[in-house]
Order: sequence, then structure tokens, then C-alpha cells
Amino acid sequence: MKALSIRGLRKVYKGGLEALKGIDLDVEEGDFFALLGPNGAGKSTTIGIIASLINKTEGEVKVFGYDLDTQLVELKRQIGLVPQEFNFNQFETVRQIVVNQAGYYGVHRNLANERAEKYLKQLGLWEKRNEPARSLSGGMKRRLMIARALLHEPKLLILDEPTAGVDIELRRSMWGYLEDINREGITIILTTHYLEEAESLCRNVAIIDNGVIIKNTSIKRLLATL
Ligand code: ADP
Ligand code: ADP
Repeated sequence: MKALSIRGLRKVYKGGLEALKGIDLDVEEGDFFALLGPNGAGKSTTIGIIASLINKTEGEVKVFGYDLDTQLVELKRQIGLVPQEFNFNQFETVRQIVVNQAGYYGVHRNLANERAEKYLKQLGLWEKRNEPARSLSGGMKRRLMIARALLHEPKLLILDEPTAGVDIELRRSMWGYLEDINREGITIILTTHYLEEAESLCRNVAIIDNGVIIKNTSIKRLLATL
């Protein structure tokens, strides 16, 4: 089963900038996949389109077989998104932020409470559950967004630059949490501009530059050609 299949994806922003020039991309179920590329390459645009936050100009996007154009509700149910910006209410408690997500997906209250406990424990935030989110460190806030993204139990977790701007120690600790999640069978796609991150974590990688996929291969093969 393919977790993600993209064909001929183009994005032209208002004003005429062509951010994606007809890309193809395949990610297998269970994979840990990196979309690697420099700033401005088109990474955020790509995942924004997959998560249906950005309209595409042209092309086909399928997530676990569900078509973005005709099966949007089912497609969105497959995806948990962790954006780059901290977009939660800093004054709510950690637990509230995760449980509140249930409303968007019709997850029952009891189930939401159960899952919030599970994912907050898994991400090392259970002790912080009654603290306001603003009291958390940057790394903890990022983990909070991951716990929130898992509440509806998506099969595909997409993270936009999960370790941008954090030091190497924090990056390593984040990697451990992500490996844990992937081990449970959740497919992960992350964007990064750190080759090292793709190297340590991912099995397969696509390199995007200037709206074009210039390489799509396993990490092993990529490293062999460098
Ligand atoms: P990356 O995530 O790899 O840094 P982006 O997908 O954010 O790249 O951006 C790709 C290109 O699209 C860049 O040239 C960027 O300036 C442009 N871009 C991104 N968002 C918009 C927007 N809302 N309007 C116009 N251009 C945009
Ligand atoms: P403090 O820096 O005092 O802990 P906050 O935790 O509220 O204050 O951080 C200020 C804001 O900076 C956050 O709300 C968030 O939007 C932004 N921010 C800080 N670190 C990051 C990061 N690693 N990635 C994205 N945004 C960040």
C-alpha cells in the first residue's frame, strides 16, 4: 500500500511564482521519509498541499488511496500534521490542547481522554499535563504538537522542519520520539534542510530544489553517491 502518491503536482502562487514544477513522489506505508532541500525549495508548499491547507494548481495527490480532489474528508482523516509554527493557545493547559483536537475529528470524549494520556506519556509530557503550554520549553512545545496531531490516530504523520533552529542535543532527543512513533507502524514524512537528520532517521529521501525533485532514493544509495 502506498501512503502517498503524487503525480505531476504544480503550484503557481498568486503573482506567478511557480513553487512546484510538476513533481512526482511515492511513499510506501510504514516508511520514514525525508523531503530534503534548501530554503525556498518547495517543501512547505508540498506538505501544505497534501494536508489541504494550500490549493494546488495542477496534478494528483493520493493518501492511502484517497484522492485529494474527490475524497477530502477521508484523506484528511489519514493525516496528522505538525506545522512549523506553534499554533496552539499558549494559555491552555497541555492536556486541554490535546483533548480539544477531538472536536475536529469527532473523537468521543472518553476516548480522547484515554488517547491524550497515552500520547502525552509517550512524548514525555504527562507530568506537564496541567501546565499552561506557554511554560513549556521549545522542544516540549514541539512534542505537544506531535501528541495533538496523533489524537485522531492518523496513519501518516507529516512534520514540517521538526527540529529547525534547535541544538543538536534537542534534535537527537526529538529523533528518538519520532523513531518510537514510526516503530508503531505510523508512516512519517518530514521536511528538513539537515542532511544529517535524513541520514540518521529516514529510510528514503527525496531531494527537492527550486520546485523540482532532483533525486528520489534510499538514504543508503544517496550516501553512496555523495
Ligand atoms: P521551503 O519550505 O522548501 O522553504 P516553500 O514551499 O515555503 O519552500 O516555498 C517555495 C517557494 O514559494 C519560495 O520561493 C517561496 O518564496 C514561495 N512561496 C511560499 N509561499 C508563498 C506564498 N504564500 N505566496 C507566494 N509565494 C510563496
Ligand atoms: P519564551 O521564548 O519566553 O519561552 P514562548 O515560548 O512563548 O516564549 O516563545 C515565543 C514564540 O516564539 C512562540 O510562541 C513561538 O511562536 C516562537 N518559537 C519559539 N521557538 C520556536 C521554534 N523552535 N519553532 C517555531 N517557533 C518558535
